Amino acid sequence: MAWECQRSPYLRQFESKVVSCTPAKLEGKNGFDVVLEDTILFPAGGGQPDDRGTINEVPVHDVRRDGSKAVHFTEKSLEVDANAHIVVDWNRRFDHMQQHTGQHLITAVFENRYGYKTLSWNLGKVKSSIELSCKSMTQEEIDCAELEINKAIKANTPVSVHLYEKDDPGLEKIRSRGIPDDFAGPVRVVEIENIDANTCCGTHLANLSHLQMIKLLHTEPTRGCTRIHFLAGNRVMNTLCSMINTERKLTQILSCGPEDHVDQVQKLQKTAKSSQKAARNYLREIATLEAEKFNNTSDLVLCVHREDGDMDFLNVINSKIRNKNAIIFLSVGSNSTGGQFLLTGPPSLIDKIGPSVAERLQGKGGGKKGRYQGKAKAFNKITDVQEFVKNSAVADSS
Ligand SMILES: [Zn+2]
Repeated sequence: MAWECQRSPYLRQFESKVVSCTPAKLEGKNGFDVVLEDTILFPAGGGQPDDRGTINEVPVHDVRRDGSKAVHFTEKSLEVDANAHIVVDWNRRFDHMQQHTGQHLITAVFENRYGYKTLSWNLGKVKSSIELSCKSMTQEEIDCAELEINKAIKANTPVSVHLYEKDDPGLEKIRSRGIPDDFAGPVRVVEIENIDANTCCGTHLANLSHLQMIKLLHTEPTRGCTRIHFLAGNRVMNTLCSMINTERKLTQILSCGPEDHVDQVQKLQKTAKSSQKAARNYLREIATLEAEKFNNTSDLVLCVHREDGDMDFLNVINSKIRNKNAIIFLSVGSNSTGGQFLLTGPPSLIDKIGPSVAERLQGKGGGKKGRYQGKAKAFNKITDVQEFVKNSAVADSS
């Protein structure tokens, strides 16, 4: 098994021939499985995702390995025996090469330095990660590994591919996480000079300098092992650009330089906390005043609605009403997004009108023994609903 993409990973265009084209389906979409004499579009393998590109300007949506064949999925059919002009989506491929060679380098450094073996790895859309055979690792270990990794990149270290026969005794000393059962032909070994030799089918960089830089990120425990996240190559620069943009926005919003961002956010958090506490206290005072105002009247019904407020506000009013036969309808929330409501009073009335109130507020509720509470979707008709409660109370008492 060797395709042109493996022999010449830097080739962006290639001429081949269509061998077969058969109707096929991919994720419910109709299309064609196309096999070429050779290809520069890499099928998924070794943890590296498949390439995208075009054959005679027809987009390729998927490339998979079937034994020694690479099968390309296209929406349009291609004529058998016709010449095939293949173009690879180079940005995607080069990114995959940077992540994959980066993974080999990180794997080698963690194993050589600390004996942590790579159990699996994942090439993600934004970040990639490696699962290592250790329960945890220290920040110092990570920092030292990162330093060694980037030293090897700066040293212009060559990466080369060697082919071994399957029974070559030399293969035993080479790192491998297994070779597919249906694999045929010589075994491919990717070597990073003086650092690593690893069996792999992927497309790799020719030199570590093409990685530019690797940044190791956070770790997380996973099934008794440790997953470490990383950025390699252009992803380091892309992430830096997006962080600088975020930093600029924060500088504008917080009106201070990046060195003061943390202090400023902490100050704002503190202020927000004390403001929230004060607002809660004010609301409780307002709730008490509302209840006292009502207690000084001979009214039978109290309806209060506030845009700001919470369930606590409703409960405080309700608890301070002295007339236990009074009908209390309280609600908090904005006209458009709704909020909460509470209805209390004589059980015979509340149990009857509770569901109707919820329905009029386009919400849901529940309760028993003269207490009905729920959530409203909107309060734009709150005045009408308050009127309904008052009328129901009058009708009930007469
Ligand atoms: Zn590999």
